[in-house]
Amino acid sequence: MTALEERWRRVLDGKAEAEKASGRAAGSVRLIAVSKFHPASAIAELYALGQADFGENYMQEARAKQEELASLGIRWHAIGAVQSNKAKDAAGRFHLLHTLASESLARALVRRLPGDAPQDVLLQINIGREPQKSGLAPEDAERFIETLRAEDLLRTEGRGLRIRGLMCLPPRCGEGEEARPYFAAMRELRDRLASATGLELPELSMGMSGDYRQAVDEGATMIRVGTDIFGARPVKA
Ligand SMILES: *Cc1c(COP(=O)(O)O)cnc(C)c1O
Repeated sequence: MTALEERWRRVLDGKAEAEKASGRAAGSVRLIAVSKFHPASAIAELYALGQADFGENYMQEARAKQEELASLGIRWHAIGAVQSNKAKDAAGRFHLLHTLASESLARALVRRLPGDAPQDVLLQINIGREPQKSGLAPEDAERFIETLRAEDLLRTEGRGLRIRGLMCLPPRCGEGEEARPYFAAMRELRDRLASATGLELPELSMGMSGDYRQAVDEGATMIRVGTDIFGARPVKA
């Protein structure tokens, strides 16, 4: 077994333990392997073992890997900030875009969708209201959804965006118990928003290498793990 396979299996075991400990069904949480700065060969190795979901932060890097690995059935997740003027690189090219937080990006995505299927998205929430972080303030999320709806950008079929839930990078992320209250606040916000807007919002994308157990315990449906799977990220040249 390679070191990569060993680390990946350890994370799967950790996820299974966390699911069990919190009374969640086995396999109910999806592991997204965050592969930024790591080579396509490492992605291909894990894909061959059964890892289907991969997260990338940077459009140019993601597009290059998507081209190189086009013959595989990878589900790509866009987890980094996307500028509105780069919407055409994202629209229709990812299974799920986790970082929608601006009306201009929403409009640009819909305009750039290559086909007639909706683009699945999550709303990124700045759950700790940190000035340096992107994301919608929790109190603005409902109005944001209603604005997109009023502009007829939300669709469950055809051209539009389908909001599947919420994503966050909380304060103290990666620091285990320190992040837990923010994960709990995300779950409460999701429940509130779902009842206020009538949207289903089944997905909560939260938890990374240092805190995915706490995230699972608080209701994450997708965890985004990089370092614990691939090792430390190489420094970008
Ligand atoms: C890099 C990244 C991760 C993975 O972080 P690790 O600590 O390496 O597990 C998760 N989510 C986002 C948004 C990231 O940018």
